[in-house]
Amino acid sequence: MQSRRNQRYQKTGLSETQQDYHIARRRMVQEQLRAETTDRRVLDAMAKIPRHLFVEEGLWGQAYSDRPLSIGEGQTISQPRIVAMMTAALQLMGDEKVLEIGTGCGYQTAVLCECAREVYSIERIGSLSHRARRRLYEIGDVRFHLRIGDGTVGWPEHAPFDAIIVTAGAPAVPDALVQQLADGGRLVIPVGGECQQQLLRMTRRGRDVVTERLTACRFVKLIGEAGWPS
Ligand code: SAM
Repeated sequence: MQSRRNQRYQKTGLSETQQDYHIARRRMVQEQLRAETTDRRVLDAMAKIPRHLFVEEGLWGQAYSDRPLSIGEGQTISQPRIVAMMTAALQLMGDEKVLEIGTGCGYQTAVLCECAREVYSIERIGSLSHRARRRLYEIGDVRFHLRIGDGTVGWPEHAPFDAIIVTAGAPAVPDALVQQLADGGRLVIPVGGECQQQLLRMTRRGRDVVTERLTACRFVKLIGEAGWPS
């Protein structure tokens, strides 16, 4: 005889494993992310996107815990709280053109695709970018454009951007990124030393830029022309 649990899975059309991850995602939103933000768009996106599919299968069981995880090449996917907080700090309403520096495994890119109109993302490590592209197609996202290269110079051909997010720690704010912000646009970036940074939000107001300090944080290094040397 089938268990009640199994019968319920069959009704939803999800396999038992998919249903377990669905529950884990909802729990992540309730228990970790609601304390970080009330932005419905961000919470809904993170409740929907299968974060486990962006990491190695051996790490699937940890994909919804409050911790960064390895994505290979010495890089990490940020913990869910940080992804939620940084995305919320961009103040997206759904119609923006966004630039992300540091595609990594593509998870943050997928969250941005849910919250904005169009996403441009740059990653300096080719193998990570290729893997991210495959995963994003697999989960059905299509509103992204990926480039392999140095994101500290931005993506001038597609500027200006309504929002720019940098997911690696910079020694100073790259000037090119500020130049590529639209009027009213927001740049969210960790800036500071190799071991600790301050998360900043910079908002362009005409010729002026208003800077807010959001929180202390710790990211892998932003390496490039206007970042750390390799
Ligand atoms: N957002 C990513 C995710 O969801 O997986 C997390 C990215 S990880 C914390 C930071 C990424 O920034 C790494 O993949 C690293 O290779 C990349 N990176 C560092 N310097 C860069 C640069 N100048 N341009 C583009 N990507 C860079």
